[in-house]
Amino acid sequence: MADLLVWLVAGPPSLGAPATIQSACSLVGHDLMTMAELDAALPDATWQAAPRSTDEPVPDTFWTVGLGSGPERRFSFGLNTELSAVQSAVSVANAVQDHLAGYEGMQWPECPGHQHPMAARIVDGSAVWVCRSEGRRIAEIGQLHTIA
Ligand SMILES: [Zn+2]
Repeated sequence: MADLLVWLVAGPPSLGAPATIQSACSLVGHDLMTMAELDAALPDATWQAAPRSTDEPVPDTFWTVGLGSGPERRFSFGLNTELSAVQSAVSVANAVQDHLAGYEGMQWPECPGHQHPMAARIVDGSAVWVCRSEGRRIAEIGQLHTIA
């Protein structure tokens, strides 16, 4: 793909990507780095983003965003660049969580003290991780700490 942008999950975002994608990937990337098994599941984890290709039946405002291992693409999904930064962060968090659960067999991010992963939600205008059973707000997306 000609316009594919690739940057390390742990590194600064590609300036070629729309601002909402840069911001969402930085926040979710920070939280991904707290996952001890990340390097085993996705060595040299990268974000990958590209404008929609003309043969895809989605609006012009969509980009394809995904995760890879180095240059190798692992998964991607469509993200509307007209979403707010908060909506984008929740969308990216949900897509990454779904992929890790469905294809890598990993629960991320683990809810402190529980056996389930947290859920990404918009609460009071912020993108946050909440406990699925209690609805309790645990952390802002992008501010997870390593849970030992
Ligand atoms: Zn919980």
